[in-house]
Amino acid sequence: MFDELAWWFDQHGRDLPWREENTPPWHILICEVMSQQTPIARVLPAWTEWTQHWPTPSAMAQSSPEEVLRAWKSLGYPRRALRMRDCAQVIVERHDGEVPDTEEELLALPGIGAYTAAAILAFGFHKRALVLDTNIRRVIGRIHGEALPSPTLTKPERERALSLLPEDTAESVVWNAAVMELGALVCTARSPRCTECPLIDRCGWRELGYPPDQHASRRKTQAWEGTLRQSRGKIMGALRDSDHPLPVSELIAADPSQAELALAGLLEDGLVERLGDRVALPGSLKP
Ligand code: SF4
Repeated sequence: MFDELAWWFDQHGRDLPWREENTPPWHILICEVMSQQTPIARVLPAWTEWTQHWPTPSAMAQSSPEEVLRAWKSLGYPRRALRMRDCAQVIVERHDGEVPDTEEELLALPGIGAYTAAAILAFGFHKRALVLDTNIRRVIGRIHGEALPSPTLTKPERERALSLLPEDTAESVVWNAAVMELGALVCTARSPRCTECPLIDRCGWRELGYPPDQHASRRKTQAWEGTLRQSRGKIMGALRDSDHPLPVSELIAADPSQAELALAGLLEDGLVERLGDRVALPGSLKP
C-alpha cells in the first residue's frame, strides 16, 4: 500500500511551502495551528506573513496580544493566535527558544494537543509519529469499510491506524503527508473521486457498496449564519479594522440580538478589553 500511495503523492501532492525541505519546526507549528480549523487557501497567505514577521519563537515571544490578533485577521477562532504567542513565550523560557522534539515536551506547551504534537514531530523533525487529522482518519476509515470516522477518536481506531504506519521512519513521514493529501484532494468527505485513487483496490468502503455514515446522528453541524460565533467574528473584525477603541454602543448596534453576549464571551476569553464604554483589542486601551 505504501508504494502506490508514495507514487501518487510524488505525482499529485501540492507544492505547499511548508513541505519544503528544512522548514523549521516553528513554521510547521504555525501551519498546524492555523490549519486546524481553517482551509489551506486561507492559511497560505497568513502563514507566509507570520513566518516572515515572526520567524522564530523568540521573535513572537516579544509581540503583543494586539499585534498577533491583528495579524490573525479573519482566520477564525482567534484564541489560537493568543495561544501561539503563549506557546512562543514558553518555548523561550523552557527550551531556549527551540521547539522541543519530544511528544511529552510538545504536549506541555500551551495550545498543543495530541494531533499538533504528532504533526510537529513528523513534519518538523521527520520522526515516526501517528498523525491523525480528519483527512487521515477518513481515508483509513474507508480502507476499513466506513463512510466516515466516529466523531471522537477511539483507542481501537488509533491502534488500527498505528498498524498501517510504516515502521521505517522516512516512510512513515511520507505516509502521513501522503494519506493526509489523499484525504484532502481525492478521498474527500462528500464526493470522493475513487477512479483517481491509488488505494481503490484496497478500499473496504467501496467494496461494500458505499454504506451510509453510521455515526450521522452524532455529528454536530457547524452553523455560522446567525450564531454567536458569527457575532464574535463581527466584533473582532470591527476592532481589527479600527486603529482606536470603539464604543460598546456601536458594536452592539451592529448586531443587537446577541452582540452583548458575544462581547461578554470575548472579554472572558481575553480577546478584547473594556474600559467604561470603550472596547479594544487587549493592551491597546489607555485610561
Ligand atoms: S476508493 Fe474512493 S472512498 Fe476508497 S479510499 Fe479511494 S477515494 Fe476514498
